[in-house]
Amino acid sequence: MKVLVVDDDRTTRVLLTRTLKTWGYDVVAVENGMEALERVRAEKLRVVLTDWEMPGMAGPELCTRLRALGGEYVYIMLLTSHGTSSHIVEGLEAGADDFVAKPFDPPVLRARLTVAARHLALQDELAHKNNELAQANSELARIATTDPLLQIGNRRSFEDVIVHAHQTARRTGLAYGVLLADIDHFKRFNDRHGHAFGDQVLRRVAQTAVNALGTSGQLFRYGGEELIAVAPEQTLRSIAVLGERVRGAVEAQRVELLTGGFTSVTISVGVALFDPHDAISAQVVIEYADASLYQAKKLGRNRVVCWPFDDARPPRTSQF
Ligand code: GH3
Ligand code: MG
Ligand code: MG
Ligand code: MG
Repeated sequence: MKVLVVDDDRTTRVLLTRTLKTWGYDVVAVENGMEALERVRAEKLRVVLTDWEMPGMAGPELCTRLRALGGEYVYIMLLTSHGTSSHIVEGLEAGADDFVAKPFDPPVLRARLTVAARHLALQDELAHKNNELAQANSELARIATTDPLLQIGNRRSFEDVIVHAHQTARRTGLAYGVLLADIDHFKRFNDRHGHAFGDQVLRRVAQTAVNALGTSGQLFRYGGEELIAVAPEQTLRSIAVLGERVRGAVEAQRVELLTGGFTSVTISVGVALFDPHDAISAQVVIEYADASLYQAKKLGRNRVVCWPFDDARPPRTSQF
């Protein structure tokens, strides 16, 4: 434990330093408040043992300024001959943790330093526990927003992200796009090669889509084998190109079969763009992407269809 001794009187400094060192403490001694503040800022000092009467900055002011520094807790002891109750109140209110009468009584000072060490050990334990708690919380937040199979965002995080994208688009006037992808004939993979293989295909498709999207969009599991991406700052053309990039990347994959050989997997993609001038909700944008996906399936799968694909509005289903 490193102790900082602050006293304008050289004799006191030397005596305190020597005494504290014989008790095994690491000691740094300075002669005024400004130097004390600098040392505390620069190195890891756990205890400050400060005089009250000093030219420039008195003990209580040093206490206040040390507390204002923030950072790791420093245990402050005021060493003073001012022992009246109003002095004690002033010192404690300024931020001191303890008082030691001057001239100091070595056994008492030693016992009080033990109290300081006990106090700091509790502080350290608390800081450690808080740190563990913060880590556990951030891991929980990650679990709550991540799909465990695909290791991409889940439906819940998708909903947060699209609401945010919608608000941003309204504010900036820049359109965002949604890509809704569904694996073609996915049931066949499960039926012919088993559910575990189906899972593997699904993971591969998600990873390929993440890579194809790059920094342009964020991918989520919408449900089952349906993936959805939100891409900010798009035009109808750029979002169509992005959809095609994802579709092409999935089609280009060769998936190794357990029985030997390879198979390919394709997706159908429905695309919709939110024009910030339209007074529609994010739910309706998703509906448009869903209608486009349905159209892509109808037209033969393994293709990208963009909304608006004709003049007809999609049915406003009540599921949204
Ligand atoms: P379509 O081209 O019309 O989309 O045909 P499809 O066979 O893919 O039909 P559909 O999308 O309706 O079926 C999805 C299937 O995906 C049904 C379900 O058993 C399977 N599935 C959904 N989630 C998972 C999963 O996490 N793992 C596996 N292995 N299969 C899943
Ligand atoms: Mg003094
Ligand atoms: Mg499907
Ligand atoms: Mg499906």
